Amino acid sequence: MKKRYLCPFCRVVLNPNIKIVFSVHKGAHRGLMLFNAKPGDYGFIADPDFPLNEGETVNFHCPVCAKSLTSPTNDHFIEVLLDQGDSTLSKVEFSRVYGEHATFIVDGEDVEAYGEDAQDFDDINFFGH
Ligand SMILES: [Zn+2]
Repeated sequence: MKKRYLCPFCRVVLNPNIKIVFSVHKGAHRGLMLFNAKPGDYGFIADPDFPLNEGETVNFHCPVCAKSLTSPTNDHFIEVLLDQGDSTLSKVEFSRVYGEHATFIVDGEDVEAYGEDAQDFDDINFFGH
C-alpha cells in the first residue's frame, strides 16, 4: 500500500497523488509547495515568485484546516502523520529550514533518518520526554 501522509489535526490526506501538498507562509507571503512523497527525496515544486532562500525557516500549514504543522516536540521541524497500512501511525518530522535535508520517521521507539543533514541531529528527541 502506498504511504499516506495525514494532517495531525484534521487527518486529511496530504498526498492525494504522488506529491505532498502544504500551504507555506513566509512573512507576508503565502503559497503552496508540493514535495515528493518518497522520504529523502527533496525535490519540490513552488511558485518561482515565492521567496525562498537557503537557511531560512518556512512556516508550513495544512492546506485544508490551515493549522500550523510545526512539530510540538521540536520547532525546527514540521510534524505530520504517516499511514503505512499497519495498525499504528508513524510521525514524520521534516526540517522547516529551506535547503536543509533532514527527515525522521518515528514509529514507536524506532527512528529512521533520511537526508544528508540528518546526522546533524544525532541526539534529537522526538518523544517529548
Ligand atoms: Zn489539517
